[in-house]
Amino acid sequence: MPPFARAFALTTALALSAPALADAPIGDAIQSVPIFDAHVHYKEPAWEAFPVPSVIELMDRSGVAMGLVSSTPDEGTIMLWEYAPNRIVPELRPYHGDVNSGNWTQSETIVGYLEDRLARYPHQGIGEFHIHRLDPFDEPLFREVIRMAKERDIYLHVHTGAAAVAWLYELDPEVKMIWAHAGLGESARNVYRVMEAFPTLMADTSLREYEIDTSGDGLNPEWQKIIYAFQDRLMVGSDTWVNGQWEDYAEIIASNRRWLAKLPRDVAEKIAYRNAERAFGREVTMDLIGKK
Ligand SMILES: [Zn+2]
Repeated sequence: MPPFARAFALTTALALSAPALADAPIGDAIQSVPIFDAHVHYKEPAWEAFPVPSVIELMDRSGVAMGLVSSTPDEGTIMLWEYAPNRIVPELRPYHGDVNSGNWTQSETIVGYLEDRLARYPHQGIGEFHIHRLDPFDEPLFREVIRMAKERDIYLHVHTGAAAVAWLYELDPEVKMIWAHAGLGESARNVYRVMEAFPTLMADTSLREYEIDTSGDGLNPEWQKIIYAFQDRLMVGSDTWVNGQWEDYAEIIASNRRWLAKLPRDVAEKIAYRNAERAFGREVTMDLIGKK
């Protein structure tokens, strides 16, 4: 083979193998990638069983450098944030006292409560809150909630279905929103449609990990499409909504690393922490582990 032909063959081989390398799954190297946990709760029943320092230690042990935390009541979030401000991104959950996920939109004091908490602490989101049922009588409240979020340039973190996401964007197409559990009850097909329809919508995939990863070689094919198409807008999360989730915290984060391991490094890193870095203006690195 003349030298130029050999060089050509070599170049071609390299050109073919380079994308293959870039597309190779990150595999075990995912263990050294920091995680941003985008769905943490530190509710009152957890406070005694899992004291503040122990929560940060649980994060440390799983390589969770930072978390987006909302709690019932908000004092739980603030306790964590005051102890470890470099590890916690606080967001304001409306629930407190008798105000809960089923009745918060009817509370007459809720706007004042939210205004007061937002004035006192640097929450970077309002949520996670639920919209169980779309009620046109709730529109004035949601206009107020959107106004509060926009004034501070912070997110709404919403646990609801596709219809209510569309309704919130109708109220204000510029609202910044994170879709909790990527809609949870919505099929993968609907998740794709919603993410496609609203190009700024972010989503956390908490409680979806076993649906995404069917434990074969690859991922669930429908979810694989979602993950590649919207790789710049997804974040993982644990959803520590009951103490059992704190007990299982290491396994929950491990199960998320298992599906991220099946993705190329650049995609895995975006979903593990880079999208969150951009959303919250924080730097997420393994150097944060062991620090507060
Ligand atoms: Zn939740």
